[in-house]
This record gives sequence, structure tokens and C-alpha cells, in this order.
Amino acid sequence: MLKPDISFVSLQVPSDLIARVERCINAAFGRLTAADSVLVYFRADDIGVPGAKFFRMMELFSNYRIPLSLAVVPAWLTAQRWNALRSSGQRFSSLWCWHQHGWRHINHEYKGRKQEFGPERLQADIKGDLLKGKCRLENIMGDNFYPVFTPPWNRCNLQTLELVKDCGFFAVSRNCGALPPAPHALPDFCVDVDLHTRKVMDPATEWSRLFAELTEYLSSGRCGIMIHHRQMNRAAFDFLEILLKIFKRHKRIRLLNFKNLAETRGA
Ligand SMILES: [Zn+2]
Repeated sequence: MLKPDISFVSLQVPSDLIARVERCINAAFGRLTAADSVLVYFRADDIGVPGAKFFRMMELFSNYRIPLSLAVVPAWLTAQRWNALRSSGQRFSSLWCWHQHGWRHINHEYKGRKQEFGPERLQADIKGDLLKGKCRLENIMGDNFYPVFTPPWNRCNLQTLELVKDCGFFAVSRNCGALPPAPHALPDFCVDVDLHTRKVMDPATEWSRLFAELTEYLSSGRCGIMIHHRQMNRAAFDFLEILLKIFKRHKRIRLLNFKNLAETRGA
């Protein structure tokens, strides 16, 4: 049996990948009117430590001039690490939306699914982590920090969502359809497609599922894609490059980061 949580794109890359991605896009546009465009955004999680995979990811997004929202773990970031992180793609700084991930990215729940901001936490501790994180990122990253919050594992409780709003964040980013719903005036720039942390038992089935998801979400006019660079290998980077290249070619696909998304909503 294959290990769960392994990057499925590292297992086998189907040879007809380019054609299958194109088919997804054509099928999606076939369901939309000729005037419709599709918003596509990428979110990269677990940012804070520079390394070869991080730099390769930034190189790809820079090469194709495609925006990327990066969820930074505040406790992992130091001024020295930030200097290294920002050095990649610095010429294209308007493409990047550096925002906040979980303070230490640790699980606080004794049972049930992992959460850093779940029911086991006291309200004061949740608020403390949010503000500590925001303050640290603002101090280190200055104007490069943008106040959006991505909770680890894409989940948090209602109390956290309320505090996120009260602490001055413009938006949250979880899985699409995540519960509880975000409070009024706190948009959720949700992600639908998970490229690298899928539980894979059968690669062929998983590829089919991925293409079905891409078609479904592109057809809805909006598609958020989640990346975990630390789980990627060469094949995963090859697949990401194919995706970026094809998306970039389609003029009706609008590629945005969270800041762009907030601005289109008038935040
Ligand atoms: Zn994470």
C-alpha cells in the first residue's frame, strides 16, 4: 500500500498530461459564456525556511509572471531567512502576497482532526497567537506583509474567525465549503484543489480525480490551488510548470493573488 500524504505527482506522471489539462480548460469554458473569465489563484503553504524547493517554486512563478500567495509561519521566520526568501523573485514583488499562516503550525487538539486554532484553545491564547504572528511578520516583512490568515490544515473554529476579523485581517483562506462559515465582512479566499497532500492509494484514480476537480472548479469561474513545495519532487515541479504554462496561455484565465482578490472586492 502506498504511504498516505505523499505527493501523488511524485509517483507517476501520465504522458498525456498537457492534453488532459487542456481538455479541463476547454470543458470549463464550454460550460461558461463567451464573456466569462475564470479567476485562478495559487496558495503556497508552510513558508518560512529558504531552501532549494522554495527557490525552484519561486523561479517557476517568476518565469511565467504568475501571482502567488504565500502563507508564512511567523515563528519560523527570522530577518535572515526573510532576506533569503525575498531575494527570489524580488524583481516581481507585485506578484507575491506574503500573508500569515499558523503561529507555530502545531496541533493543539487531543482528539479529532489536527488544528492549531481549534476548540482546545482558550480565546486569549488564540488572540495572542494571531497578534504575535501578525506583529512579527509586520516587523520583519514591513510593507510586504498583507493581512490575510490561512489556518493550518485549512480549519479553525468560529471564535478564531471572529478574532481574525477583529485583529484587522482582510480575509481568511480555508478549503472551499469549510465550516463554520466565515463571518460577514471576512471573505474566504478558499482553495479547492490540493496538489501535494492528497491521500493517494491509486495514482491513476487520483489523477482522474484531480482533472475532474480542475474542470469542476474552473467551470465555476473561480479556482484556488494549494501547493506544498516541501513535498514536491522533480515530477511535481514538471507538472506545476505545465499547469502554469497552460494557464498563462489562456487569455480568459485571470491569475491573481490574495491582494488582487481583495482589491477586486474593494477591500
Ligand atoms: Zn500548513
